[in-house]
Amino acid sequence: MDLGIKGRRAIVCASSKGLGRACAISLANEGVHVTLTARGAEALSQTANEIRKANPGVSVMEVVGDITTPAGRDAVLKACPEPDILINNANGPPAGDFRNWTRADWVNALDANMLTPIEMIKATVDGMMTRKFGRIINITSSSVKAPTSRDLSNGARTGLTGFIAGIARRTVINNVTINSLLPGIFNTDRLRGSDVLMEAEKRGISVDELVAEHGKSIPAGRVGDPEELGILCAFLCGANAGFITGQNILLDGGAFPGTL
Ligand code: NAP
Repeated sequence: MDLGIKGRRAIVCASSKGLGRACAISLANEGVHVTLTARGAEALSQTANEIRKANPGVSVMEVVGDITTPAGRDAVLKACPEPDILINNANGPPAGDFRNWTRADWVNALDANMLTPIEMIKATVDGMMTRKFGRIINITSSSVKAPTSRDLSNGARTGLTGFIAGIARRTVINNVTINSLLPGIFNTDRLRGSDVLMEAEKRGISVDELVAEHGKSIPAGRVGDPEELGILCAFLCGANAGFITGQNILLDGGAFPGTL
């Protein structure tokens, strides 16, 4: 299917690895010029080079910086001042008991998972509305639909979701849609992070075995492949997806047990 977005320009935040990377790859496969961001230069260059190799007609820009800071956001907006597509993504907040979080912990989580996407939207949405095309996708979490043990994530991401619910109904008149993707458990570096490594070590099994075990608790019998989220992201950015806005789409292999 041709999504009709060849030649469009996208900012894909936090995209050297994992879900952001998968979104960048899917968009580039559709002929979209992509500006990628990450704090670490090495993995960013590696992903950018892979995309260039697979899509020689597509321009791929790399911006090293922390997207949750004003300087990081300014740098990416300088590299791509008039994006047609914005994918909001950043590091998720750490796990833990809310009794242990300080005000600074809350401010950090709100900065990364609520205020940064809002700032990026603020900087780009009016231009999209004037040009009569815009697609904004926020990578949030299944915690928006059903709370997890990550108290900071439950709070910050739901705050963003409430904000989006309002503005997505006001931008669509100019063909600017705003939707969120809610990942359940996906096989990314984040999933394979220190908690999983420690648990695998403690139990004397490999990380792959532990990830497979996590997958067995999901109706699909497996964890998600980032490519699956990337493909849906590109679809929602398509020229013909202009009637879908303000939606929160769960990708969790059936883990959420509700009827609706
Ligand atoms: P990942 O595999 O660890 O990849 C994270 C990517 O974002 C890397 O490229 C990282 O590069 C970049 N990044 C992180 N913080 C950044 C920042 N402040 N500024 C710029 N780039 C940044 O993580 P993931 O699994 O794709 O997760 C992406 C988001 O989805 C997170 O918010 C996570 O909480 C959420 N999520 C993931 C899952 C899952 O199962 N994977 C489930 C629910 C929600 P650098 O480290 O070099 O900056």
